[in-house]
Amino acid sequence: MLRSLVDKLEKEERLSGAEFERLIAGRTPELAGYVFEKARKARERYYGKKVFIRGLIEFTNYCRNNCLYCGLRRDNRAAERYRLTEQEILECCAEGHALGFRTFVLQGGEDPFFADELLCRIIRSIKKDFPDCAVTLSLGERDAESYQRFFDAGADRYLLRHETADEEHYARLHPPSQSPGERKRCLFSLKDIGYQVGCGFMVGSPYQTPKHLARDMLFMQDLEPHMVGIGPFIPHHATPFAREPAGTLELTLFMLGLTRLMLPSVLLPSTTALATIDPKGRELGILAGANVVMPNLSPPGVREKYLLYDNKATTGAESAQAVRELKEVMKALGYSVVVDRGDFVPPKSQPERPNESGLKSQPEPQPGSQPELRPKSS
Ligand code: SAM
Ligand code: SF4
Repeated sequence: MLRSLVDKLEKEERLSGAEFERLIAGRTPELAGYVFEKARKARERYYGKKVFIRGLIEFTNYCRNNCLYCGLRRDNRAAERYRLTEQEILECCAEGHALGFRTFVLQGGEDPFFADELLCRIIRSIKKDFPDCAVTLSLGERDAESYQRFFDAGADRYLLRHETADEEHYARLHPPSQSPGERKRCLFSLKDIGYQVGCGFMVGSPYQTPKHLARDMLFMQDLEPHMVGIGPFIPHHATPFAREPAGTLELTLFMLGLTRLMLPSVLLPSTTALATIDPKGRELGILAGANVVMPNLSPPGVREKYLLYDNKATTGAESAQAVRELKEVMKALGYSVVVDRGDFVPPKSQPERPNESGLKSQPEPQPGSQPELRPKSS
């Protein structure tokens, strides 16, 4: 019965809220296996066996917001705050570029120190020094004019998780000064400007129910994002949610699989949070339908200060050795890490079906059509 809903999602790329809720609440390991198999086929129709890497640069951990779940919240007085200089950011990019990264993600708290002018200068410098790279921003909520300025300076993509599409749930995760409507408005305005846009949510955040997750799916049906960030909630000891349980690997993987079926060409990271709750989390995310990994390029000295949650996994790929290891792990799964910006591929209007012989009607990418990731030579 639930399998027919999975078939319907695969075919029509949409379901009703009630249908999503039934799938999520009624899931079993067998159903999850069925979802993952179809999710892998869907991603391969668009991206073959490629895994894209994004170099994450956590450039500030100052934040004016107070999200109840996050270790960077302004009321966490114990957090040791830092900001990277423009020079340090460019050095991270140079190191990443030599390792084969062609997307840099500038992520940080909402830090007014980084005014529009300064950010535009940093974006322009990165694009000038690394013209073959995409720049992704993840700096939270700003007004549409600021988003436009960053876009004009050369930013290509913007990640802004909606966190939860349900208003009441949003209000239990954030102080009253932060509004779900404003967050959604930001997402639609980013899309209007022309960014490749990413939304997303935590799985297992406090008070979350299958109904909330179903609403998240419906919101994404509406927004049609180019990227979706989904990871488990993990408690941080110095937040109001310190004693809340973490989200599970199992439900996070299931949501990744459903998301891939609904948005088959979406860019979907297997997140650091997933790697934090399970040593095999990153690989299992790829097998559930993800096609992106975001290793950390931040300078080693600041990594432990960018603590959104406790025991954050170190996915440091700053060394050629770590990149080689990532490449090996993906190869063992049958996937290959590529040197590529990894831009969004627009969805085809009708999903392609395998023909009766089980062969895909679209040719697989030719071996060698994408250069393999080559670690920096010493
Ligand atoms: N400040 C920007 C923002 O909020 O969009 C970007 C940085 S913020 C740290 C990036 C994401 O981290 C958030 O969207 C949130 O989903 C995730 N996050 C924060 N605290 C978390 C926690 N305790 N467990 C898992 N993910 C968390
Ligand atoms: Fe700040 Fe983002 Fe953390 Fe919220 S999730 S406290 S906006 S860094």
